[in-house]
Amino acid sequence: MLGVEMSIEDIKDQIKNAELDSNRSIGSVNLIAVSKLQPLQKVENVLQKGHRIFGENRVQEAYQKWPIWKEKFPSVSLHLLGPLQTNKVVDTMRLFDVVHSLDREKLARIFSVNIQKLGYSPDFFIQVNTGEEEQKAGVFPRMVDDFIKVCKSRYDLPVVGLMCIPPINEEPSLHFALLKKIADRNGLLRLSMGMSADFVSAITFGSTDVRIGSAIFGQRY
Ligand SMILES: *Cc1c(COP(=O)(O)O)cnc(C)c1O
Repeated sequence: MLGVEMSIEDIKDQIKNAELDSNRSIGSVNLIAVSKLQPLQKVENVLQKGHRIFGENRVQEAYQKWPIWKEKFPSVSLHLLGPLQTNKVVDTMRLFDVVHSLDREKLARIFSVNIQKLGYSPDFFIQVNTGEEEQKAGVFPRMVDDFIKVCKSRYDLPVVGLMCIPPINEEPSLHFALLKKIADRNGLLRLSMGMSADFVSAITFGSTDVRIGSAIFGQRY
């Protein structure tokens, strides 16, 4: 599957089959089409086909394309997937509907200040570094329960779920299962997990939001 480009209809069929196979209701999994570093025409084609949920990794890159597309396709929901610096919080709020990479208290605090100011808020996934990788963003599993509480009670943030990116050379299902366990014990309903190579497995483990780029759009430039 990896590196092979499929149509978005094929991907949606695969998602539906995975939902059925795991006794999930059809439509319970959101497909986030990850448009980072993809040719504009390919993304525009998917917009023309009616898809409306997209993911980007970088705020700056997103600003080069999405203001125009959001005007043309007002029902677009834009998800920020990549690591975020605090000086990008306001720009993030102006363009994105959902943030998947909330992972530290300073970021939570600055979001909360600006939510007060602007009067609206994105939804948040807390990113969990399930593999405890040094170079990777995300809260370590043993710190997550406390961090969820801080985000919800101290900063009043609408935390909807958890997100993870499993280590490249490990079996992803172990990480999916861990994320599901942490979400369950904290009463969180959504799980952002599964990418082009492993989204079917992620759905089996309870993913509600799969983030798929190269399988839809092909290799990134
Ligand atoms: C790029 C990216 C994806 C999509 O990866 P593919 O393997 O192309 O599907 C998903 N999630 C995050 C956080 C990403 O950075």
